[in-house]
Amino acid sequence: MMPRSPVKPGLASGAAATLKLMHPTRTYRHCRSCGGATEYMVPADDNRHRAVCSLCATVHYENPLNVVGTVPVWGDQVLLCRRNIEPRHGFWTLPAGFMEMGETLAEGAIRETVEEAGANFELKSLFSLLNVVRAGQVHVFYIAELSDTQFAPGPETIEAQLFHEHEVPWDDLAFRTVHETLKRYFDDRRKGQLGFHCADIE
Ligand SMILES: [Zn+2]
Repeated sequence: MMPRSPVKPGLASGAAATLKLMHPTRTYRHCRSCGGATEYMVPADDNRHRAVCSLCATVHYENPLNVVGTVPVWGDQVLLCRRNIEPRHGFWTLPAGFMEMGETLAEGAIRETVEEAGANFELKSLFSLLNVVRAGQVHVFYIAELSDTQFAPGPETIEAQLFHEHEVPWDDLAFRTVHETLKRYFDDRRKGQLGFHCADIE
């Protein structure tokens, strides 16, 4: 994959350039401190390209983001939400979203499930952890045991619906991590034992 921002020639050693190619970053064009233009370079005592402010020299570190959500379960059905927002508007997803500052992973999972599905539930064990290196994200899903089937989805969701395994709209799922998590959930369910699953999404 090509870097998303131009790398100034002559600033990178071959190894650093390879790192840059292997680990694409988000792009800061302007300094978050002073608004000055940034340049991508390898700062002293570092080994990666960073956006460095050309005025105040602030270095902007870019790190992966956590996406957290749940597999809401009711008997042998799971709850999916049809997205009312981009990306993947109209596609089905497990309730999930970016973790917020000031909350734990579990609090984030609960918040997203309330916001997107308006469901009543009890949060259970951690179920899946998926590295999405290409997007700079880590996705984590908990099991959530639904307390009833009354759902009050928020504005980010068109509808929330329970699905048996054979009813899951596999071709209309919004994200690979949702697909991989659901597949593992139903596999475990058939075996009668829920595990914890780690996977890397290409
Ligand atoms: Zn600056």
